[in-house]
Amino acid sequence: MHIEAVVLAAGQGARLREATGGTPKQFLPWQGEPLYIRSARTLARCARVRGLVFVFPEADVEAEKRRLNTLQPDLGLPWRAVAGGARRQDSVRQGLAALSDQTDTVLVHDAARPFASPELINRVIDALEQGAEGVVPGIMPADTIKHVSADGSTVESTPDRDRLTAVQTPQGFSVAILREAHARAAAEAWEATDDASLLERCGRTVRVVHGERSNSKITSPEDLIRLERPMETVFVTGYGYDVHRYTEKGRGRPLRLGGIPIPGAPDVSAHSDGDVLLHALADAVLGCFAGGDIGQLFPDSDPALEGINSAILLDEVWCRATAANVRITHLDITVIAQIPPVAPHREAIRKNLSRLTGLNTSCISLKATTEEGLGFTGERKGIKVAVAASALRLSGAPAHRTILRSDV
Ligand code: MG
Repeated sequence: MHIEAVVLAAGQGARLREATGGTPKQFLPWQGEPLYIRSARTLARCARVRGLVFVFPEADVEAEKRRLNTLQPDLGLPWRAVAGGARRQDSVRQGLAALSDQTDTVLVHDAARPFASPELINRVIDALEQGAEGVVPGIMPADTIKHVSADGSTVESTPDRDRLTAVQTPQGFSVAILREAHARAAAEAWEATDDASLLERCGRTVRVVHGERSNSKITSPEDLIRLERPMETVFVTGYGYDVHRYTEKGRGRPLRLGGIPIPGAPDVSAHSDGDVLLHALADAVLGCFAGGDIGQLFPDSDPALEGINSAILLDEVWCRATAANVRITHLDITVIAQIPPVAPHREAIRKNLSRLTGLNTSCISLKATTEEGLGFTGERKGIKVAVAASALRLSGAPAHRTILRSDV
C-alpha cells in the first residue's frame, strides 16, 4: 500500500468567524503554529503515511506553501498544496487529484480536528490493510439522538443508541473507489458531509474503527477554549561532564573547584580559569534545555575568554536557562580525582555554589571519589567532574506525547 493523506484546510469557518475575529479555524494559532499543522505533524508521525496533500482556500495557497517551506522542524515527508472548492466534497476532489501517481490508499482528514492521535490513524490504516474499502472512526454518541420533523419542532422517533455512531476523520479509502464515488457524486449532484457516505451510496462497505472523544471538531466558540492549553511544567534532567589535565606546578592555572581555590593541588591546563567543576555544572544546566555545550558557547579559540572566571560563564548559562523557562532545582555533583582531597573544601564549595546559583545548600550535593589508582585520575594526570542537574521546565509544548484513550 502506498498511503497519502489529504488535510482539508479549505473551510471558511463561517460559524466561528465572529469569535475568532475572522480567522478560519484551521489557521488559528496553536503552540506557535497554525492549527492545521498540528494534524499534519500527527499524520507525519505515522510511518505508513508517505505524503501529504494540503487543501487551502484559494487565496491562502501561496502564503501557506511559503509557511510550510520554512517550518522548523519540517514535516519530514513530501507534501503538496492545492486550492479547494466551494463545498467540502469539492475540496476533497481537488485533494484526490493532487495525490502522487503511486498512491493507492488515502486518508482524508479535517484540519478542524487537530487532536486526532497517531494511534487512531494507525487503527484506520490497519483496517485498510485488512482489505476494507472504506474506514471511519466512530464513537457512541454521548447524547440521545432523536429524529425530528423537517422544521425541527417535533420529535418523530428515537433511534436505538446502540446502533448509532458519530463518525470522525481521518477516514481511509482505496483511492480508486473514493475517486469513483466522487465522480458519481459530481455527475449525479449528490451532497455529502463526509466521504464515507458517498461510498455508502455506491453500495460499498464502510468499516468502523474506534474513534476518540478527544478527536472532536472545533466548531463552536466554546471549543476554542480547548485550544488555550495552559503551560505545562515538566521535570527535566541535565548531565554535565568535564575533564581537566594536570600540569607541572607553575605551568598551568592554580586549581579552583566551584570557584574555591584549592591550595597545594596541581595546576590545570586550561584556556579559562580551569574550574572543571563549574564547567561540568554549566554543561548540566545547558542539558536541561538542549542549549548546546560550553565548548560551543565559549570556544577555546576566543582570546576574550583567556583566563576568564568560570563563574561568569556559569552566569551566562544560567541566564539562558531562565530565558528558556528552566528553573534549576537541584544539583548532584561528583568530583573524581586521586588528588587533591576534596572533603576539606566541601562546605566552602557548596556555600559558594549556593551564592552563585541562588540554590539553598540543601539542594547542592557534592560527592567525591577516587578511581582506586586506576586510569588517568588514578595516575594523578587529571581530574574529572560529573554533574546531574534537576530542573522544572515550563513549556507550551508537551515534552511527552499524551496517550489518548479510545472511547468505544
Ligand atoms: Mg573544561
